[in-house]
Amino acid sequence: MIDPISRGGLSPRFWEKKPLSKMSPKEWEALCDGCGKCCLNKLEDEDTEEVVLTRVACRLLDDTTCRCTHYENRHQFVPDCIVLKPDNLDSHAYWMPQTCAYRLLWQGKDLPDWHPLITGTPESVHDAGISVCGQTVSEFDTPFEEWEDYIIEEPV
Ligand code: SF4
Ligand code: SF4
Repeated sequence: MIDPISRGGLSPRFWEKKPLSKMSPKEWEALCDGCGKCCLNKLEDEDTEEVVLTRVACRLLDDTTCRCTHYENRHQFVPDCIVLKPDNLDSHAYWMPQTCAYRLLWQGKDLPDWHPLITGTPESVHDAGISVCGQTVSEFDTPFEEWEDYIIEEPV
């Protein structure tokens, strides 16, 4: 499988040597493991700010590839889709999935063994059962009142 994220030509284990704020745009993009979990709808407790993921996917997520179908012009369809950057990670890390590379590095943790930057293949995130490929339901077919029925336990 061709990796949809460009990870060639990067310095070996650059994420262990550079802080997130010093990474080049290519290094930053390469951190994404392609799991698709940040494209799931979430439920947040207003009082505790606890966030849980549901299997109800954003309308633009392709369930078979875990990729956004209109990434470049996605804001035309989903205006509130976050553009994650080093300078806004502090305010978003709390709701990012527990296995998300950005959140893990922000927490001072290592990348997991199945991360494509370590394995050299984008398949490893799917083989490890981390991605949500084939596991989502459509937000068009799932009324908001039913989202609680689709809560998933992390880190899976
Ligand atoms: S949760 Fe993190 S690692 Fe997974 S697709 Fe989203 S940004 Fe990438
Ligand atoms: S618009 Fe695309 S990148 Fe944003 S949440 Fe939806 S599927 Fe993910």
